Amino acid sequence: MSHKIKHSTAHLVAAAVLKLYPKTKFAIGPAIEDGFYYDFDFKKKISEEDLVKIEREVEKLIKTNLVFKKKAVSLKEARSIFKDQPFKLELIKQLEKEGKKKALLYQSGDFVDLCKGPHVEKSNQIGALKLLSLAGAYWQGDEKKPMLTRIYGVAFKTKAELKKYLQQLEEAKKRDHRKLSKDLDLFSQNSQLGPGLILWHPKLAFVREEIELWWRQEHRKRGYQYVYTPHIGRKELWDTSGHTGFYQDLMYPPMKNKRGDTYFLKPMNCNGHVLIYQSSPRSYRDLPIRYCELGTVYRYEPEGVRHGILRPRCFTQDDAHIICRQDQVVEEIEAALDFALEMNAVFGFKNLRYELSLNDPKDKKKYVGQQHQWQFAQETLRKILKKRGVEFKESIGEAKFYGPSIDLKAEDAIGRLWQGTTIQFDFNLPGRFKMSYVNQKGKKETPFMIHRTLLGSMERFVGILIEQYTGAFPTWLSPVQAIILPITDDQLAFAQKTESQLKEAKIRTEINGDSEPIGAKIRKAEKEKIPFILVVGQKEVEINQVNLRKRGGQQEGAKDNQEIIKLIRKEIDNKL
Ligand SMILES: [Zn+2]
Ligand SMILES: [Zn+2]
Repeated sequence: MSHKIKHSTAHLVAAAVLKLYPKTKFAIGPAIEDGFYYDFDFKKKISEEDLVKIEREVEKLIKTNLVFKKKAVSLKEARSIFKDQPFKLELIKQLEKEGKKKALLYQSGDFVDLCKGPHVEKSNQIGALKLLSLAGAYWQGDEKKPMLTRIYGVAFKTKAELKKYLQQLEEAKKRDHRKLSKDLDLFSQNSQLGPGLILWHPKLAFVREEIELWWRQEHRKRGYQYVYTPHIGRKELWDTSGHTGFYQDLMYPPMKNKRGDTYFLKPMNCNGHVLIYQSSPRSYRDLPIRYCELGTVYRYEPEGVRHGILRPRCFTQDDAHIICRQDQVVEEIEAALDFALEMNAVFGFKNLRYELSLNDPKDKKKYVGQQHQWQFAQETLRKILKKRGVEFKESIGEAKFYGPSIDLKAEDAIGRLWQGTTIQFDFNLPGRFKMSYVNQKGKKETPFMIHRTLLGSMERFVGILIEQYTGAFPTWLSPVQAIILPITDDQLAFAQKTESQLKEAKIRTEINGDSEPIGAKIRKAEKEKIPFILVVGQKEVEINQVNLRKRGGQQEGAKDNQEIIKLIRKEIDNKL
């Protein structure tokens, strides 16, 4: 979806709304990643059914082949054009405050909007659109301001692109982790506990445990050392790192004790790792040091940003901090990148998009450190990506406050992109904490630090996996790997014997001994997405075998227990 097409369609939606509902006040209509929206204050509430009517009106406008004309007018003139539009008047007031003398407008047909553009030249460049949904949204995201009606939509150059998008949307609905979580009993939230806090149910805990066990093994292999750090720390610590200055909006409010000590819940794991480093003197020979932790952090994400398990307020990062000398930085970042690619590939994420997140030199309040340091760090990362010959997008203003990063977006089974890995180059925290090591000449030097997470957070990552696999986890991650279904009670004892053999081979196994017809039991096991279904009837008992079928209905026939164990173990051991 091109930005110009999305945003130009938003204008036409506003034009159509004003035509159909002339008393409506219109606010803003930006393009967003997934399309566009426009916010309105309707005199009379509209419903989802009205969207079709608005859509038809927009289509009519497109056909008249409107030209998008840009012009600059004085603020006074702008005020008179939008005299009946309170939201636009507020925006003009804002322009005045910023010292602007002119307002930029775009006109298409009778409709004029306050807007910097850019737009398509003519409306026939919009090939297809669809208005998707309605939502409530506060004016300027402020809970104290009026609640507006937001219309979401998408727009494309061609009808074929729209069709493909709608099919993908349909597929995405089937995969929605919130829906699947209910069906499969994976996680929940509870208002008594607080919004954005995830309760992991036993089945999803199995998935996490498997990932964590493997994660630990892989980190050991690569010379990482595990550490554990507390979840709270004194205010002074967060002052030193700069979090209270640059990150406090995302932190939970402080805790004060009677003696006047103030503590914060940690929003990041970095500081604990820095303090472990500082617990004894370090020499150049000790570096690199790679501390890793499945570290739980707390971030008070704004209400509009929270999204199921994908963006909660408490989550566990698969975090690590690599402390190294300048001459080791490139090698360490490259190794972290390779590690990330390997990890992603295990889950079927083989198509990765690279992004280089940079600071915005104009926004000094958002970042610590000097611009020349930023340039050095950014150039280092840019060189690494160029050397690899990968395509990457540079995003200005997306860096964390302490340094730039390489971020990887993984493409899932239906072509959606998910942010997971981030590798950040930090030249700030070591200095702020006065970290040091003794160099070859016996002099103290400040090390560099690399912050990295490969999966992102456990919460977000399993949320992505639920959608990636539509809840049908591969065998190694499946909460229940095999289920044994005796046809009648007569085979129960035989089933139990099989169960204990499978369990001994460390296969997560259950028996469904309910007195239901076997067809119903199979359907239930399929619904629970269990990878191996073992059916035992009288015939099987007599030949000392069980009938094996795989998830999805594939029949494997009668096999003895040892064969079955070998088959299932092979999938588990190969992470299939
Ligand atoms: Zn515009
Ligand atoms: Zn960190």
